[in-house]
Amino acid sequence: MSAPTTESQSATTTVGLGMPHVPRVRHSREEIEAAAPVTGQKRVLLAAPRGYCAGVDRAVIAVEKALDHYGAPVYVRKEIVHNRHVVDSLSERGVVFVEELDEVPEGALTVFSAHGVSPAVVQDAERRNLRTIDATCPLVTKVHREAVRFSKQDKHILLIGHAGHEEVEGTYGEAPEHTTIVNDVEEARTVEVEDPDNLTWLSQTTLSVDETLEIVSVLRDRFPNLQDPPSDDICYATSNRQAAVKSISPEVDLMLVVGSANSSNSVRLKEVSLEYGAARAERVDFAHQVDESWFEGVATIGLSSGASVPEVLVQEVLDLLAEYGYGQVDEVVTAEEDIMFSLPKELRAELKKVGDTSRGLGGRKRD
Ligand code: SF4
Repeated sequence: MSAPTTESQSATTTVGLGMPHVPRVRHSREEIEAAAPVTGQKRVLLAAPRGYCAGVDRAVIAVEKALDHYGAPVYVRKEIVHNRHVVDSLSERGVVFVEELDEVPEGALTVFSAHGVSPAVVQDAERRNLRTIDATCPLVTKVHREAVRFSKQDKHILLIGHAGHEEVEGTYGEAPEHTTIVNDVEEARTVEVEDPDNLTWLSQTTLSVDETLEIVSVLRDRFPNLQDPPSDDICYATSNRQAAVKSISPEVDLMLVVGSANSSNSVRLKEVSLEYGAARAERVDFAHQVDESWFEGVATIGLSSGASVPEVLVQEVLDLLAEYGYGQVDEVVTAEEDIMFSLPKELRAELKKVGDTSRGLGGRKRD
């Protein structure tokens, strides 16, 4: 499995607006069907759950509320969530995305992204007198707490995840002296540890469930006394979206995943789809990136979206698919989700002072 950064490098010093989209000339439905006739009924299998998770919803609402309450500019360290559309929309409203805190003026309001930050970043913010709102997903915070607890027990942590991903940097930063990052199965086979009998493992929240199990199995073969974390770190949203994609993949000729190249869970959905039988899988940020030649000879298209993707982007893909004859859409529901998180406490307290008692719960907003 490749790390998310191998598909695209998204980091820029300051995240700006996307380039204007220049529509390209498309081949018509008739031309595509003439190129490769389709046998069977054209249809779309729409995976559910898909799209926004509770942690992403909460983080985006937190930034929107901060904009409404404090006014622009609101600074956000890193992309609030890994989605091009979300970042561009917030940029247009006055959010300034930065890579590091030294780009933020002294005393300015700064939001930490859903992926979490290391204690060093929090200390840096305090040194610079920044007013901060921590939009770290509570499920990422849970992993941070486990890292702290294990390090206090003087255990060594094998952190399964992609080095360089913001979430992994944040978790690693809780206990760098006690942590070794394991990127993949190959590293699980070769990682060296000081005391094989004093090990535990944690993971990034957005990994492939199957590959993580394989990595743990390799580690356990080598280190039989490896201790498990109290609960799974791969979050409910990642697991549910992968399960939904797995269920439809054997039937699809083409799987489309809406999500950005630096979105770990979106990239995983594409990989999982191929592993579970999709003849072809493609990831796009936007409907206009769908290449109609992918439809040649294709009867069944699967469609899903990563946990940071607003539903409006999926609808735009469905509209495009309908133009090419894929108007029959069957939603395949493999789980119901009702998880919600309340807004970051700093923001809740501030909003309460001005009579805004809406808790801005995340988890239900889809566009
Ligand atoms: S993908 Fe999971 S860990 Fe990440 S923000 Fe969503 S709920 Fe939280």
